[in-house]
Amino acid sequence: MYIPDYTAAVLRRLEDSGYKSYIVGGCVRDTLLGLTPKDYDIATNAKPNEVLALFAGYKTITAGIKHGTVGVVTGGVVTEITTFRCDGEYANHRHPVSVEYSDSIEDDLARRDFTVNAMAYSPTTGLVDPFGGMKDLRGGILRAVGEPVQRFTEDALRILRGVRFASVYGFEPEPETTRAMLQCAHLLSAVSAERICVELYGALGGPYAEKYMHKFRDVLAPVIPELPAMAARPDPACGDMLRRALAVATAVGEPIWLRLAALLEHVDWRGREESALAASDILRRLKTDRHTRDSAFRLIREPEPADLSRPGIRRLVAKLSPELAVGLLKLRRASAAAARDAEAAEKYTAALALADDILASGDCVSLSMLEIGGDDLIALGVPAGKKLGRLLGLLFEEVLDGKLENTKHALAARASELIAGSQK
Ligand code: ATP
Ligand code: MG
Repeated sequence: MYIPDYTAAVLRRLEDSGYKSYIVGGCVRDTLLGLTPKDYDIATNAKPNEVLALFAGYKTITAGIKHGTVGVVTGGVVTEITTFRCDGEYANHRHPVSVEYSDSIEDDLARRDFTVNAMAYSPTTGLVDPFGGMKDLRGGILRAVGEPVQRFTEDALRILRGVRFASVYGFEPEPETTRAMLQCAHLLSAVSAERICVELYGALGGPYAEKYMHKFRDVLAPVIPELPAMAARPDPACGDMLRRALAVATAVGEPIWLRLAALLEHVDWRGREESALAASDILRRLKTDRHTRDSAFRLIREPEPADLSRPGIRRLVAKLSPELAVGLLKLRRASAAAARDAEAAEKYTAALALADDILASGDCVSLSMLEIGGDDLIALGVPAGKKLGRLLGLLFEEVLDGKLENTKHALAARASELIAGSQK
């Protein structure tokens, strides 16, 4: 099993001093799947102060030391080293009241959420897999460690993590885990919006989102109560509106506001304005940051762009912003593809290519990009004030339409013409 040098060095240092140490959790899962882990977490029986002493020569991060975690920087990378733990009682369906250190990796694995996440590995001892994680990984099965209802009652966030792992990896939650996810879903109301968003965004970005966020719409209902109602509305192309929304959200890509706009653009059956408002409410409840919320809102509210010519797209960019205009075209394209309208999808692919070209060539798409400014017009004898603003606006319109070149010379000439015309 491949472990990067900087991680292997940390394991060796711990073992050379007589401690047990393993890589554990997500990095073991991902490596066994042939994926590159985001990061490597290490579990050890060394206590946090012992870890600190052992890595005295290194930069360390102690923000998580209360929970037994010390970060050690080796090779420019932070590796989190956490002392084996067994969690005590849980409070508020989220946090263990007390954390007890343990001498055994098995204890530490027993408190983890799913069997595929409850494996440890070390080059000296090999794979530690007391809950059949390897078998479940091979079978593509998501199974809670221990008694699922108890595990989800302890910490309800695990339910949403389950939806995320299904959506990202395509793991099928086994029947008992599935039942418990449904049975305990109401406990999600105790989980903070911030934690919910992390998992929700992760799930929405997964390649299996359409399948599993649809299947678990009732699990997600405490988070977004509108989802089950969307599934009850038929859609000719995809079966129902939730399936359609998820298909679009999967196809449309990043950033997250684009996926959220796709998920919520038909959340209210009455129409665009109502859906935009409902989406904004949902995202406010989820405490989504303002930029994400506003971007999704504006995209949902924006009518289908009628003019996809170069000037038309320039106008769209000028009205929205480069990122929102490109987002809108992507959303419309993914939406057309989900509705099996190949012709419309192609039209938007062409429009996206045009938008790329407009942005790459530096076409003038904002007043600030106009090669003439208020001062130049004042020099031409236009008095400062409303009239000047109107004149700039006129010039900008003509440049957007491609009727006027965006050069100081052409703009000044045209401005003089317009001034002369208005003085007649
Ligand atoms: P990712 O690839 O998204 O990082 P991960 O499985 O590594 O997935 P982390 O949140 O980084 O997830 O957590 C690391 C490990 O800690 C998990 O693999 C799991 O073993 C354990 N874990 C994390 N959160 C929980 C939880 N809420 N309950 C139980 N175990 C958890
Ligand atoms: Mg991780």
